[in-house]
Amino acid sequence: MAMAGATMHHRTADFRALYSKVLADLRVFIGTRNDVILFTSSGTGAMEASVCNLTSPGDRVLVISAGKFGERWEALARTFGCQVDTIRAPYGQAVSPMQVKEKLTPAHSVVYMQATESSTGVRHDVASIARLLKGTDTLLVVDAITGLGTTNFNVDGWGIDVIIGGSQKAVMIPPGLAYCSVSERAWRRMEITRNPRYYFDLRKERKNGAKGESSYTPSTVLVAGLSAALDYLREQGGGDLTAGRDLLIANAEKAALMTRCAAQSLGLRLFAEDSPASALTAIASPKGMDSGKIVKLFRERFGAVIANGQGEMKGQLFRIAHLGFYDYLDTISMIGALEHVLIEAGVEIELGAGLCSAQQAFTVLEQAAA
Ligand SMILES: *Cc1c(COP(=O)(O)O)cnc(C)c1O
Repeated sequence: MAMAGATMHHRTADFRALYSKVLADLRVFIGTRNDVILFTSSGTGAMEASVCNLTSPGDRVLVISAGKFGERWEALARTFGCQVDTIRAPYGQAVSPMQVKEKLTPAHSVVYMQATESSTGVRHDVASIARLLKGTDTLLVVDAITGLGTTNFNVDGWGIDVIIGGSQKAVMIPPGLAYCSVSERAWRRMEITRNPRYYFDLRKERKNGAKGESSYTPSTVLVAGLSAALDYLREQGGGDLTAGRDLLIANAEKAALMTRCAAQSLGLRLFAEDSPASALTAIASPKGMDSGKIVKLFRERFGAVIANGQGEMKGQLFRIAHLGFYDYLDTISMIGALEHVLIEAGVEIELGAGLCSAQQAFTVLEQAAA
């Protein structure tokens, strides 16, 4: 509704007030005192900004890569002439902080990583990796596009220099906005970096953002939607946006745990067994079955959208998201539907086994919270 009613021109006092409010709310949502920058672009735009603004051609950077989005960091950094060292984990596993400790050198100007690798459902240990960078001159850039709103971060305490989010993930609005917070250290780095930038110029956006403006024409409709979404979170938190954000995270953790318990009770293997994210759950397809069959049955039988694997993982896994206020009822419905889909696909399971263990997981969490 907020988006349908957003007819204001972007160079007006009304819009400047809205834009300033959204930037201030995003700071609270991210949990930082750093400046927040908003771009009208998909999430990758803010990823590009954090490469072209923070590096010079020839800079050595370290990429932590455990899936398709980690590979995006590699490609981006190469595009801007960086020498890229990569620490890779096989799909479904996380890169361990020990591996980072071994490979990290003072020559690395920036470390690029994902908080949650959405292609595999893996969660990275951002806190431990951030600790390794404390007291060094290496900047830490975290793609938390599915991490924000599903995962707890102490952005300033841990020393995350840039953390990135996107509108289409946990803030529950359509695609088209990317946002990030930028530390003082990162702003200082930009005084000496020489890679080309124009639309994604962070310093220009910071200057204009301080006046309630975006450098170019922003998606006014999405900014209005984002404002309403953040207000909704604030309402959920009884007038406190931080509390609302924490509820959103707890909700994702709950849905993810219920889904993991259900999958395992149904004899399915979790694709990211050791370090699962709360943003989504990736489940390996039953032996010998193309996961596309499961995705298709969900759509045809229940009108439900789940995701197949990306790239080389296509056919091997399916992914159920826990982004935004998908809650108990949604999660239980998806698990119930999953049971029917598996049976229809010829997998032998006991009807209700997944639901039962999801309900048990829910009960345990409710009791722990009480
Ligand atoms: C969705 C997502 C992105 C951004 O992709 P866009 O299509 O550019 O919005 C980047 N990283 C991760 C981990 C994501 O989940």
